Amino acid sequence: MPLRNEFMATERTLTIIKPDGVAAGLTGAILAKLEQAQLTIRGIRRLRLSTAQAEAFYAVHRERKFFGDLVRFMTEGPVVPVVLEGENAIARLREIMGATDPSKAAEGTIRKLYASNIERNVIHGSDAPETARQEIAFFFAEADLV
Ligand code: GDP
Repeated sequence: MPLRNEFMATERTLTIIKPDGVAAGLTGAILAKLEQAQLTIRGIRRLRLSTAQAEAFYAVHRERKFFGDLVRFMTEGPVVPVVLEGENAIARLREIMGATDPSKAAEGTIRKLYASNIERNVIHGSDAPETARQEIAFFFAEADLV
């Protein structure tokens, strides 16, 4: 099988190790899994989101009934946003993360291994090229991606 074909593209995507993952000391284990999957770290930070930042980041979900809980969860402690780059990085990150609900996540995925429930699911990943661009810009200046 060729290493590259015309359906492949080098992409950037955003992941966030959520407060539950950071608090449980899983930052290193999760980053190791991503790097082992040939996703290269181009930018990394550690910060605590304000309520306004969490509401803005998850604005697409503001009408959902779990929005308040989600914002409380995402602000309860530090998070680690990371820009990843690789072939088909957006879809591959989603695959390695596993389904939103860990009870439905495939064996070996990060959420299957480490998530507690549908809310406290240890990791975020951008779902499409446009959201990846927006979410990367939410945390990083282009000049900081090296
Ligand atoms: P993702 O793209 O797999 O992260 O899933 P979504 O974009 O649908 O949801 C964003 C985040 O909201 C999820 O990762 C969970 O942390 C949280 N979430 C999603 N669905 C639910 C739900 O039904 N209840 C609660 N409490 N949280 C949810």
